[in-house]
Amino acid sequence: MKDLKDLSFATRQIHVGKQKNSVGALCDPIYMTSTFAFDSVEQGGRRFAGEEDGYIYTRLGNPSQRAVEEKLASLEGGEDAAVTASGMGAISSTLWSILKQGDEIIAEEALYGCTFSLMSHGLSEFGVTAKFIDMSSLDNLKNALSEKTKVVYFETPCNPTLTVIDIEEAAKIAHEYNPEIKVIVDNTFCTPYVQRPLSKGADIVVHSATKYLNGHGDIVAGAVISDAEFIQKVKMFGMKDMTGSIMSPFNAFLLARGMKTLDIRMERHCANAMKIAKFLESHPAVKKVYYPGLESFEGHKTALKQMDLMGGMMSFELKADRDQVAAALNKLQLCIVAVSLGDAETLVEHPASMTHSTYSSEELASAGISEGLVRLSVGLEDPDDIIADLKEVLDPLAK
Ligand SMILES: *Cc1c(COP(=O)(O)O)cnc(C)c1O
Repeated sequence: MKDLKDLSFATRQIHVGKQKNSVGALCDPIYMTSTFAFDSVEQGGRRFAGEEDGYIYTRLGNPSQRAVEEKLASLEGGEDAAVTASGMGAISSTLWSILKQGDEIIAEEALYGCTFSLMSHGLSEFGVTAKFIDMSSLDNLKNALSEKTKVVYFETPCNPTLTVIDIEEAAKIAHEYNPEIKVIVDNTFCTPYVQRPLSKGADIVVHSATKYLNGHGDIVAGAVISDAEFIQKVKMFGMKDMTGSIMSPFNAFLLARGMKTLDIRMERHCANAMKIAKFLESHPAVKKVYYPGLESFEGHKTALKQMDLMGGMMSFELKADRDQVAAALNKLQLCIVAVSLGDAETLVEHPASMTHSTYSSEELASAGISEGLVRLSVGLEDPDDIIADLKEVLDPLAK
């Protein structure tokens, strides 16, 4: 038998991370404790000094968190991982661990709304500047890099335009300019089953584990995966001192549980999405479909290069004004109007008034987020039922 670390994705998502317990429980117990007893004052001292392994206090580590960290590090192909209270907790703990006054971030302009807000409004208060560029053409990245650049940050496919960014090329350009630059990829839309940015040259992967990784819509959670040295910095500075954004042991248990079925859920999300994208593309009320799996989509070739499947997320534009779009979404019976994504339920939302309302109208236009854009997180229902629901509200718009 090979080592567990060399076994396939399906096996590792189930077996990696199991912690030892005294009664042989199949599933790790939930270590619902804030602190850990030391055998002696001397032992406590050694643990604080880093001379002895062992738990101290749950903001510094807990076996329930450790179980998911080991699983995530293995699946993303990183040396180590840190789990956090939310995706924003992962992103802010990561950025606080790298940046100081006078530094600069270069980011793709289509970003998760709160990431955009953190960079454009939050970090600027502390003397960090962010340049937002269109990374679908990497010449823009070449031109934007400067002595001050410490971070290159993007999602791919981007939220909500599904723009695909070539991870390997972007990392090469950034590192050729300065090997110290940290290339950070938000892999929330794909999960490691679909795309592994570290294998393409990225330095750090961040996640909103709220979404596909957990997959059941019942927790808010985040994660950072990178080399062991950087993860130590995130844990012992970014999280311990700067954000305190730690995952509760209960949420860690649920996340480890959700991740045991990641591959089969992603297979179904992606297969359903492909079918629905083709339906939407052929519907006369639809102006444009943004889905990496469609040959007509601009980023299709790059997607084939770096994604194993084409994902469960898409956006589409209707031949209708904002009010007609809202009226159509309000009539859906099966698809649920809600933000978030990656759940068993199909979720539909209007980025301009919801997830991306942190953008001004000029910023929305520049990032290609139109008033008529609708984002769809395809669920695990029967795809024909989802299509029937969409068809019923789209048909009247085609007349
Ligand atoms: C939801 C989301 C986030 C933020 O994660 P939270 O868990 O809500 O804090 C970051 N990036 C992407 C791409 C997301 O979809």
